[in-house]
Amino acid sequence: MRELTYVRATSAAEAVAAVTADPHARYLGGGTNLVDHLKLGIASPEVLVDVSRLPLDAVEETERGLRIGAAVRNSDLAAHPLVRTDFPALSRALLSGASGQIRNQATTAGNLLQRTRCVYFQDASTPCNKREPGSGCSALEGYGRYNAVLGASESCVTTHPSDMAVAMSALDADVVVLGPDGERRVALDDLHRLPGAHPERDTTLAHGELITAVELTRSPATRTSTYEKARDRASYAFALVSVAVALDVVDGEVADVRIAWGGVAHKPWRARTAESLLRGGGLDEQRVRDAVAEELRASETGLDTAFKVPMLTGITARAVLRLAGATR
Ligand SMILES: Cc1cc2nc3c(=O)[nH]c(=O)nc-3n(C[C@H](O)[C@H](O)[C@H](O)COP(=O)(O)OP(=O)(O)OC[C@H]3O[C@@H](n4cnc5c(N)ncnc54)[C@H](O)[C@@H]3O)c2cc1C
Repeated sequence: MRELTYVRATSAAEAVAAVTADPHARYLGGGTNLVDHLKLGIASPEVLVDVSRLPLDAVEETERGLRIGAAVRNSDLAAHPLVRTDFPALSRALLSGASGQIRNQATTAGNLLQRTRCVYFQDASTPCNKREPGSGCSALEGYGRYNAVLGASESCVTTHPSDMAVAMSALDADVVVLGPDGERRVALDDLHRLPGAHPERDTTLAHGELITAVELTRSPATRTSTYEKARDRASYAFALVSVAVALDVVDGEVADVRIAWGGVAHKPWRARTAESLLRGGGLDEQRVRDAVAEELRASETGLDTAFKVPMLTGITARAVLRLAGATR
């Protein structure tokens, strides 16, 4: 039997030192993803450093918005009054994910860093470049309903699974990270990476870097924000496609719009081309559909994923127009 050492860190600095010193050490948040991977034999750390009980479990109001501790549970974050009023997209995204029991256990940092649900990644008997670099990508010719349509590579066509991360992308979140050389901030958009030739690397974090918090800045757009998710079942299912929108319309013209998509790429996809086409003009369904079409010009679909283009277009138009009805 393989030995696994469990360490409960008493401070963030102690946790960083422990994981940095050992290439086989990993952080443990709520464990709802990592422990599954241990059981499936697709992760084999020798040391688990538990960071779920560090004093990083508060949601604090700041001058600009909110600071969310890395160990805040998904349920608590979704229910927080200031999240519900100032960042409703985040609350909706969290509540659309997993089940009540899992949300009670899952942490903010762990949710951001959960790994793909690609069936081949989770099946250690199949080739998968993300799990075992150089072994091949079974999803290229295999079951492809959840595959990416933007930013994929020959090495990997999988999608990022976190609903919360998509909302945080549209909310322009910053991730606060502690490493052996101190603290740094990473824009949520720069946290996850496209697969390229190295799909085994999900993020731009170095080994040992610990997420300590996520910071959000409130604005009229974040207050008028939403998250919509299309999936195979009404609950307990990952997104086929999803959209987070933050919108501010002033005197009939778009003053601020932010759109992020889930279920389409190796990372939350920020639809910046569509945003720039929508900013400054009025809103009607055709304008939104045209802007989305421009964003999706680079998309590549196959038989299994062709449905994602009309689905994304419809879900995005609906979310934007619903919000437009709700803004001043
Ligand atoms: C049946 C089921 C259905 C689900 N459905 C959905 C869904 O619809 N939508 C959705 O978004 N999610 C869904 N999930 C995934 C769930 O949201 C994640 O498992 C959960 O959010 C992970 O959080 P955790 O704290 O348990 O992470 P863990 O499992 O503890 O950790 C995940 C990763 O994060 C790392 N980590 C943890 N904390 C830190 C830190 N502070 N700094 C750096 N690294 C850290 C760990 O080392 C590990 O690599 C589902 C899960 C299950 C089991």
